[in-house]
This record gives sequence, C-alpha cells and structure tokens, in this order.
Amino acid sequence: MMTANRAEGRGIVADDIRPSNYDAVSIQSRQVKTSDNRFQLLVEDTREYAIMMLDPRGIVTSWNGGAQCLKGYRADEIIGKHFSCFYAPEDADTLRRELEIASREGECIYEGWHFRQDSTRFLATVTISVLHDARGEVCGFAKIVRDMTRQRLSEKTLLRLNAQLEQRVAEQTSEIRRKSAYNRRLIETSPDPLVTIGPDGTITDVNAATEHVIGCRREELIGADFSSFFSEPARAKAGYEQVFREGLVRDYALEIQHKDGQVIPVLYNATVYRDETGQVQGVFAAARDITELRKAETALKEANDTLERRVAARTAELAKREEWLRVTLGSIGDAVISCDIDGRVIFLNPICASLIGWDAEEAKGQSITQVCQLINDQTGEPAEDLVARVLRENCMLEFANNTALISRDGRIIPIEDSAAPITDADGQVTGVVIVFHDVTAKRHAEETRARLASFPQWDPDPIVEADLSGHIQYCNPVAQRLFPHLETEGTAHPWLVEWAAIASAFAADEQTVIGREVFVGDTCYQQTIHYYAPSRRVRIYGLNITARKKAEEALQRTAEELARSNQELEQFAYVASHDLQEPLRAVAGYVSLLESRLGDQLDEKSRQNMAGAIQGTTRMRQLISDLLTLSRVGSQGKTFMPTDLNTVLDKVLQNIHVSIQESGATITYDPLPTLAVDGGQQTQLFQNLLGNAIKFRGALPPTIHVGARRQDNGWLFFVRDNGIGIDPQYRERIFHIFQRLHTRTEYPGTGIGLAICKKIVDRHGGIIWVESQPGNGSTFYFTIPQ
Ligand code: ADP
Repeated sequence: MMTANRAEGRGIVADDIRPSNYDAVSIQSRQVKTSDNRFQLLVEDTREYAIMMLDPRGIVTSWNGGAQCLKGYRADEIIGKHFSCFYAPEDADTLRRELEIASREGECIYEGWHFRQDSTRFLATVTISVLHDARGEVCGFAKIVRDMTRQRLSEKTLLRLNAQLEQRVAEQTSEIRRKSAYNRRLIETSPDPLVTIGPDGTITDVNAATEHVIGCRREELIGADFSSFFSEPARAKAGYEQVFREGLVRDYALEIQHKDGQVIPVLYNATVYRDETGQVQGVFAAARDITELRKAETALKEANDTLERRVAARTAELAKREEWLRVTLGSIGDAVISCDIDGRVIFLNPICASLIGWDAEEAKGQSITQVCQLINDQTGEPAEDLVARVLRENCMLEFANNTALISRDGRIIPIEDSAAPITDADGQVTGVVIVFHDVTAKRHAEETRARLASFPQWDPDPIVEADLSGHIQYCNPVAQRLFPHLETEGTAHPWLVEWAAIASAFAADEQTVIGREVFVGDTCYQQTIHYYAPSRRVRIYGLNITARKKAEEALQRTAEELARSNQELEQFAYVASHDLQEPLRAVAGYVSLLESRLGDQLDEKSRQNMAGAIQGTTRMRQLISDLLTLSRVGSQGKTFMPTDLNTVLDKVLQNIHVSIQESGATITYDPLPTLAVDGGQQTQLFQNLLGNAIKFRGALPPTIHVGARRQDNGWLFFVRDNGIGIDPQYRERIFHIFQRLHTRTEYPGTGIGLAICKKIVDRHGGIIWVESQPGNGSTFYFTIPQ
C-alpha cells in the first residue's frame, strides 16, 4: 500500500463539511442548515468519488452514492460498521495508522488496491482528512476514495500512443530524409540544368548539370542574378516574369552563356513553386540542351533542301521527258493509243487520231474498242480484245498478222499492232498501250515483191492482174507484148469476157481458183485465175499450151486410131477365131472318122501321127477359144451393173469344183462386196486366178484364200496360194499374152489366162500385180475403183 503524507496539508473544518447525521454537531442557524443540506446532496450525488464519514473511532457515519458505486455496498449495509470491515484482519493496524497520520498531519493520502463487494479489485487514491469540531477537537474523518483504474489505463494508453507517435515521427523523418536525399540525387543526376530562383531573381539552388553548362561552381551561382548567365538577359527576365504571371512557361528558347564564351541553345520549362500556405516562393526552371536537336534540325533542313532541290531537278527532268515523250509520240510514225484498265481512252497521238478518224480530245474517255475497231482482215470477224488479253496475261503482245483497223469513215486499214500493260511505280497495272501502224504500203510492196519474185520478167507466159471491177492493174512484159491494147480495152478483151461471172464467184468464195482454156487466135492459153484477198485483186496467169494442146490432139487422134485399129483387130481376132473353130472342128472330126474307119489297117506310126493331129487340133481349138475370150473382153464387154461378188465367187467355185476335188484344195474367202462391174468378166477373172492357184500347186494340197479390203477409192482383192511361186523377175512378163514359165508337159496352158485377167482389170479401171517368191506361194492382187 502506497501512502503519501503532505506536511503542509490542512484538516477540513467542520464548518465547511458537516455530515447530516452527525449528532455531535449542533445546528446554529437555518442558513447553515440549508447550506449543509445542499452540500449533503452534492456529496450524495457525486459518483466519481466514494465519500464516507468516520467518527473518531472509525465507525462509518455516512456513505455516498459514489461509495456505493465504487465498493458495491449500499449505505444501510455499511453505516454504523467499523471501517476496518473493508480490511483484512491483518491490515487493521494499517487503518489505525492512517487515522493517526490524518489526526496528526491533517490528512493521509495514499494509493492502493481496494476490493469491491464482489471481490473484484480496483486501484484507488485515498485521502483521509481529519474533521475538527468548533472547539478544535477531532470529531471524525472524511475519507475520499477515487478510482484510478481508468486514469491509469488512460495514462498507459497515452504512453503507448506517444511511443507510437514518436516512432512514426522518427520513421517519417527518416522517410523525409530519404526522399529528400533521393530527390536531391535525382536532381543532381538529371542531365538537364535545373535551377530554383527566388522572387528577387537570384538563384537559390542549382544542380550539377547547371554548374556544368554554365561553367561556375554552385557557391558562385547561388545568390547570383539568374539572367546574367544568358546571352539575352532581358529575354530571360521576360520569361521569368511570364512564369510569375501565368504560373508556367513551356519550351521557352534561350541561350546559356558558358563562362568560356560558348553559347548553348536551350528550351526552358519553368513553374512557380509555393510554400505550404500557397505563397509563391520562386521559380523552378528546367532547361533542355537542344544543341543536338539544333544540329539534327540543321541536318534535316539541309537534307530537306537537298531533297527539294532534287525533287525540283527531277520534276524539271520529268517535265522535259514528258515534253520529249509528247514530241516523240507526236512525231513517230506509229500510232499510239492508251487506255485505263476499264478500257477508257486516255491518250492518242496524232498518227493514231488520223488513222482511227477520231480527234484526240473527242476520243478521250470513250471506250477504246469503239474508237479503235479491229478486225481479222482474213475473216472480217472482230479481232480479239487486245486490252482484255493484255490485262489478263500482263505482258507485251504482238499481233503482226491479219489485223485490220476499221476507221471511223469505214476504211479498212491493214495494221500491225502490239500492246503492253502500263504499270505505275509500284508495279500495279494501270492501263494498256496499243501501238500500231498502217501496213497497207507494206502489204502492197510485199505483194509486188511476191509478184515480181513469182513472175520474172523473162516468164514466157502473159500475166495480168485486175481489180474486182475488171480494171487492169498490172501486165507483165509478155502480156504487154502479146496484148498491147489490153489496158485500154479494159473488160472488153476476150480474156475478160466472163468477168462478171469470175468476180461474182470470187465474191462468194475468196479461195476460188478458176482454171480454163482460152484461145486467142491460134494460141491456146490455159488460164488460172487466183483471187488475192488482201489486195482484193484477181491475177490471171496465161500459160501458152498451144504446143501441148496440139500434141494432145495428135495423141488423141492416135489413140482414137489405135482404138479403132484395136477394135478392128479384136473384131478380126473374134471373127478369125470364130471362123477358124469350124474348120478345126471339121479337121478333128475327119481325123477321128479316118482313125475309126481304117482301124486295124493303120500301122503304129500312122496311129501316132493321127493322135498328134487330133492333139494339135485340140490345142489349136483351146488357143482359139482363149484368144476369142481375150478379144471379147474389149469388144463384147457388158455394161457395169451392181453385182454381188459373193455370187460370182460361188459360181466360180462351182465351175472348178472337179479340179478342187482332184487336187484336194482348200479355198477360204472373205465376204465380198457388191460392186458395179461386168459380172461375166469378174467370173472369168476369179476363175483364171483360182485355176492357176490350183494348177501351179506344189507338193502340198493347195490352200487358197480369196481376200477383199476396202480402200479409199475402191476395193483391193487378192488370191493367195501356197503353190510353187514365181521368180520376181517375171512378175511383169506373166501378164503378157503367151508368156509361160513352164513347158506344157510340166503345166498345161496357153499363156493367155493372166493377159485376160489384166485386160478385165484394165477395163474396170484397176491394176493387177503379183507378189511372190519361188517356193513360197503367190498372191495376185487387183483393184476395182468405185
Ligand atoms: P497358163 O496358165 O496358160 O500358162 P497364164 O497366163 O495363166 O498362162 O499364166 C502365165 C504363166 O504365169 C504361167 O505359165 C505360170 O508360169 C505363171 N503362173 C500363173 N499363175 C501362177 C501361180 N498361181 N503360181 C505360179 N505360177 C503361175
């Protein structure tokens, strides 16, 4: 328990504080009593302090509301009880001592722990004051207890808060120091000169960059007039004033004057700075060294100037070139026309304008296919759309042949043209240019050249050229010599009498070539008439065929003579053969009669002679029969009629079936066609060939095939055998009459069979031949044209 004695403390006089139930105190006046009552109420109502009265023995005589709140006991529970009831028995002395101290000292103050009724404790300050009566005798004690718990707590909280506050102050101070150092470092490391200027225009702070740019130390700068470091102090001051006036300046151009005289161009950004109260304290200015910028600007300007000069030069050059191009395009012999990618005309040169018949200004913007109509000069069909093709293929195209331009007035002008895409600097196609030129003269020259080349001066035949109206355009020297009046005679000349028919034939078919024979006096010309589409001209070639004609006529006469004599011969042969057959038959009959009559009277020799006579007549009859057949081919031939050759072959096979059987031949054949032929002769033809194929057989039985093949202009037939074959050297000879390769004893025959075959094939307009090798069989071919 803490105690505190106050030496100078004084006791409380009963006049000032008097308990209401204090018996010993007499009430002297009504006012005093009223005052006591008020005081009593005050004490009663006080809750912050426990106030109690003790009599001199320590018995509780009063107990206020504060005491009840603090200690937990009601007044009726405590009043009349000794105060020691609040103390543990062992502390009874303590109370006595406190009262002694209070009696002696006037009051006893101490601080200590007290218990409430509910046994909780609280820290309290206790003041025990002694009470004296009017006589100065101790009449009791006033004990005031004040709960210090909350105060203590407040004190502790205060201490803690204070400590926290101090720590925060320390931290913030450190932070401020740190930031300040940081800011300073920032300022110092800034490459830009930074300066603060006071309201009087003197420098108050600078960074290292400022020292460097001015060439003065910090100490020299601080306090100096800032404007003195610029090449234009007045302008510097004006800027400074502007900052004050407007609060800031941006990119204010100045030149710092270095101590060594060097001038550094800078741009200033400056603002005013204020204190906490908002009062302007001065100007903060930051300069940006723009020396490099200026250099770059100068370099840029120089580059710009150079560029502009080059652009100007290039423009001039382009203008020159454009003019040059314009003059060139205007003066070249070729027509030039260009259009955009939509086919709208952009440009055309004078030559083009004159050829197409459109004025340049008039044509601009028009469709190029409208102003420049191109056709194929051979067919007259519209030519391929050049612009579309160039745009599609994106490359230069040349069209040297067969193109013609239809001018606005309908003229057809043969041209050679080429077209190419127009591209811009990025390679994008922006249009098409077509270049062409009139090749009329060139075509004429070529034609003339061709004419001269094909019809040399010494050509012995006349050559004449005329247009479709019949006017002579050209005569070669021979024509001029032969027909000196040809040109003046015009269409009336015999050569041109059929002119209207010729011209109309050409108009219908440009490719027509007419050939005919024309007599001029005794001279015969074979006329060949050619039409030349490019020049729309007709050329007439006169080939003098008088000599040939005469020869042909002579030949014709000879042929006719020959035919007549042949016919006579055939007639004679026929008559002779026919007439000879009868006496021969009679001779043979008489010899046979003689033989049978004489019978045994004949000796052997006579008998042999008679047999020879009979054989001779038989052979003679065979020969005459064959000759008769041969002569009949030419003289007794039938008209060609559609004939089924299968039927012909069937008949042949029937005719020779005995030989087929005897020889054991096998004959195969292809289906045969029906052709316009002489059926009897065709039977003879197949029979001779098949007969030979069996007759000239080898060791093996004959195997024969009759073939037929369709050809372009008729049919090819063949008879193939496996017989003895023929030496190739005889392949012509065997078709001549009486030509045999073997003796009659080897192979019977007259040597007329193949001659008959050839004559039949000849009569049918075909040819006959053999392909064979000795020992390898033979194949006889013949054709029948249709
Ligand atoms: P011929 O048969 O009466 O002798 P041809 O005029 O028919 O007379 O024939 C002439 C000759 O051609 C024959 O004698 C023969 O030598 C030869 N010849 C004809 N056909 C054949 C054939 N198929 N094979 C071999 N030789 C043949």
